Amino acid sequence: MFVMGLQITHLGSGSRGNSTLLESDDCKVLIDCGFSLKQIEKRLSRAEVDPGLIDAIFVTHHHGDHSKSALMASKKWGSRLYCNIETAMKMGWNPISDCRTFGSLERVEVRNEISVLPIPIPHDDAENIALIVSNGDGNRAGFVTDLGEATVELKRHLRGCTHISIEANYDHSKLMQGPYPDSLKRRISGRGGHLSNSQTAEILKEIMNPGLKSIVLCHLSDKNNAPHIAESEVLMRIADEFKGQIFISEQSGPDFKIDVSVEK
Ligand SMILES: [Zn+2]
Ligand SMILES: [Zn+2]
Repeated sequence: MFVMGLQITHLGSGSRGNSTLLESDDCKVLIDCGFSLKQIEKRLSRAEVDPGLIDAIFVTHHHGDHSKSALMASKKWGSRLYCNIETAMKMGWNPISDCRTFGSLERVEVRNEISVLPIPIPHDDAENIALIVSNGDGNRAGFVTDLGEATVELKRHLRGCTHISIEANYDHSKLMQGPYPDSLKRRISGRGGHLSNSQTAEILKEIMNPGLKSIVLCHLSDKNNAPHIAESEVLMRIADEFKGQIFISEQSGPDFKIDVSVEK
């Protein structure tokens, strides 16, 4: 019996910082690096990972909660930094000396072990991307945060995933009754904002397949959402068909490790 795997550790998620660690046998990748360098190193050490072993850092978009220490970390750890050209320009990163850029739907291979497919998603002033990750054993994992709505293309790719980490940013009535000014409420709930719990539930319902084993809800707003609200709203919509596990990634992290693997 030979077990190949992809381990996923959410190092923390929310408006004050996002980062997710992916590990296969010989390869380690970070998706986003939105904490201070000190904080990300602390979280990696809690996950028992030497930062010097991170092969690559993918930055989904330029907002600080996803990009904050990415360049510093890549230089200090010797990790290759990847993003699209628009994000590089917004960050002021040199696309030759600082980072490698990729186009939409252009697959990037890291050490011939982890393959990453970037899919454009609508978000504010950002050229944001969702990432579909595979490690060659037939399993795929999707990572989706910071989007106002799901595109047809994104849903097509999510349909084949064994694991999905997806934002459930706000509860609609909590947002509307909450303290934010109307303009911010409109921005968050608009096409370029974030997904509400019910939007996320609807997307998961639409893309549900028997192969989906685990879901992580992430990027929850601490003012306009709560873990039990997000989880119950999603479960209410998908419980009939979904037989896997559901987790919540919180701002504090890292709190759990998910293994997406197949026995061969
Ligand atoms: Zn964000
Ligand atoms: Zn953002």
